[in-house]
Amino acid sequence: MVSVRANALVGSDLEFVEDVRFQIGSDGTIIDISKEEKPTKYILPSSYLLIPGFVNAHVHVGDAYLKDQTYGLSLDEAVGLAGVKHKKLSSSSTAEKIASIRNSLEMHVNNGFTSFIDFREGGLQGINLLKESLVDFPIRGLILGRTFNEDSLVEISKQSDGIGFSDVFSLDDALCREANIIKENKIDHLNAIHVSESLEVISQSLTSYGRRDIEIAIEQLDLDFVIHATYADKKDFQFLKKGDIGVVCCPLTNLYHGLDFPPLEAIITEGILLGLGTDNVFCCNPDPFRLMAFSLYNARSTNQHITPKNILKALTVNPGLMTQRKIGQLSMGYSGDFLGFDLNNPNLRFSKDLYTALTMRATSADIGFHMYKGRLVKWENQK
Ligand SMILES: [Zn+2]
Repeated sequence: MVSVRANALVGSDLEFVEDVRFQIGSDGTIIDISKEEKPTKYILPSSYLLIPGFVNAHVHVGDAYLKDQTYGLSLDEAVGLAGVKHKKLSSSSTAEKIASIRNSLEMHVNNGFTSFIDFREGGLQGINLLKESLVDFPIRGLILGRTFNEDSLVEISKQSDGIGFSDVFSLDDALCREANIIKENKIDHLNAIHVSESLEVISQSLTSYGRRDIEIAIEQLDLDFVIHATYADKKDFQFLKKGDIGVVCCPLTNLYHGLDFPPLEAIITEGILLGLGTDNVFCCNPDPFRLMAFSLYNARSTNQHITPKNILKALTVNPGLMTQRKIGQLSMGYSGDFLGFDLNNPNLRFSKDLYTALTMRATSADIGFHMYKGRLVKWENQK
């Protein structure tokens, strides 16, 4: 059994605890947390801080092979059904698809993610390509598939962690009924959907259905969380809160596509679980540090009041809670996914606030210790 000892951010509130020891069981979960003196395999120096591994709450790992081909295009030109992304998805070979996925996984691991939640295109084949690639990487992928060709929702659900619907326009009554029945019968099945990413989506929804898309999605689907909600209004947030539905925002891609910075403060104030995701890899690298700093800088310039700790939770604790998975926090029974930072590193030294240092100053180069499910990925002090 593996054990690690250091100063750490512990529990669902990421509370700072000095000199604490974590015992990780053979199944990779944390089975003991204590301050007692016991033999310990990895004792980190006192300048180190352990935190839970990052969770990328929304990403499309399949589109890395389209890096930097869409800057300046509209949302529709980039990711619409007739856009650059879907043209490439339908014309590329399996080998190209695998290379693209593997590049994304490599970046995730190098940047300190220990989990990600992927919206997987390409039906069952798409799911299997990701699963086969994941075997070689120390990272957990929660895969939300979608139907494609003849693949049924039931088959997709069996092979994945749930369904990631592209938008309300792809829904019909039968499909929603089926997704809700599957969720009722499979305890860990997740339903999620892209909503209100742009004003065009909302006006198209009003034109087609006479109502905003968030209201329709909530009424039709038994949802765990929604993606974007960039243009959600007060009433939308009340619907989400009432349904106990989380929101995953993707500020980097919103701004990449020329859209607005999302209403992070309103989501938090409403008491809704906020997750953050890097979204399409072709727009921006899956880098938690860039995402956190960017979110905090932009929150200031859009007059939103959020704390660095709120942002850190959105990439650790909250995605674990909204997916009901034991990930994203250093608590008993949770996965032994750790990152350790030497606060004496030049980027972090002299900082008067741990949470600000981690969210606004740290980079992946500051990760000195990295563990996934109790298995060591990196320990720079190791002899
Ligand atoms: Zn997406």
